[in-house]
Amino acid sequence: MAAVDYPSPVKFASRLKDGRALAEDVWSIYNVANLPADCINLGQGYMNFAPPEWVRKAAEEALDVVAANHYSHPKGRIRLRQAIKKVYDPQLHRDLDVEKEILVTSGANEGQYSVFTAFLEQGDEVIMFEPFFDQYLASVTFNGGVPIYVPLHPPANASGKFSSDEWKIDPKELRAAITPRTKMIIVNTPHNPVGKVFTRAELEMIASLAKEHNLLVMADEVYDTLVFDGKEHVRIATLPGMWDRTVTVGSAGKSFAATGWRVGWLIGPEYIIRPTLAASTRIVFCSNSPLQEAAAAGLEQVQERKFFQTQTAEYAERRKVLTDCFDTLGLPYTNPEGSYFILLDISRVKFPDDYAFPQSVLGRGRDFKACWFIALEVGVSSIPVSEFYCIEHANIGEVYARFSFCKDVDTLRHASQRLQNLKQYIV
Ligand code: GLN
Repeated sequence: MAAVDYPSPVKFASRLKDGRALAEDVWSIYNVANLPADCINLGQGYMNFAPPEWVRKAAEEALDVVAANHYSHPKGRIRLRQAIKKVYDPQLHRDLDVEKEILVTSGANEGQYSVFTAFLEQGDEVIMFEPFFDQYLASVTFNGGVPIYVPLHPPANASGKFSSDEWKIDPKELRAAITPRTKMIIVNTPHNPVGKVFTRAELEMIASLAKEHNLLVMADEVYDTLVFDGKEHVRIATLPGMWDRTVTVGSAGKSFAATGWRVGWLIGPEYIIRPTLAASTRIVFCSNSPLQEAAAAGLEQVQERKFFQTQTAEYAERRKVLTDCFDTLGLPYTNPEGSYFILLDISRVKFPDDYAFPQSVLGRGRDFKACWFIALEVGVSSIPVSEFYCIEHANIGEVYARFSFCKDVDTLRHASQRLQNLKQYIV
């Protein structure tokens, strides 16, 4: 944990430490601002291309409408809630009530935070699969919850390419993690950082435990439009009896290459959405208004434009540029069935111990140093995966670096050429 290196006459709250928020987060350490200007950024997952032109245009038009520059209803703008309904009704096999079952949030993060605020009592346990998106830990602990980690196991002795589907949960470990204090389970599919798309059978297993133990399921499906190879994205909310205990999380940032817009949404039964609305109203009051209008325009048109189909094909091509590169390098890696991340096994990448590492990467997993070294020597940044593990299990994650392929093909080709220079450091 990084020490505070400035005077602090008034003590800050201990929840920052509990939420692992004091150690500098990976997004800040491997931020382009800290790396050489010509380093290619495959670290933090955001695009180097703009949202589609017709969605951007809708954003501009919204700015010209006076009302769209002001507060929205805390539930979200009605046009966006209706657009969400249009897209999700057929997928969830429901007739969603836009007043009671949909809530627009300031990004998926804030939505999830508000669910925790609404549902967690001090000491309530929340199960998350490791590796987990790091924001969950702070969001749970800031709200008095206790994270409980259940590992996703990579295949033993993997060499070369292996499918994200080979990362598996052990149902016995999941069952053993459930206690009388367990309140919620987070199911992130497609998964960040593994790229796993949970199968129907896996989700049925989780669903049956959730029903048996009366758990709320947070279905973080922000990468739902990015599923490859004809794999089926199953929404756990559609499994028998699961609508009643699931909140499904979506994101305009991921769907429309607009990660800075901070527009997300929650879908679920009234008894989940209503208290979450109460929390969200008191946290942010409402979300960014003009960009809600633009996200609505996006969702309204995706079907006729076949936008998600085209976008997925583009991402599959981007994925291939990087997987071809890793095939040539000969290091084991996970071929993701969804999301836009690839985990590369960097355990055979050697670097000098006395390399000029910044303070921020010292005292962390080996992968923090490896990612820094690769960024500076090879010129491509990535994210150390031990950040997605609890401190006790960081050694499992430090084998991997996460590379994002939400970049244009030329940039990825350029990055691939540079990454061939890793060969000299592989033993
Ligand atoms: N979800 C994105 C990623 O995993 C960004 C995370 C963040 O910046 N907090 O790269």
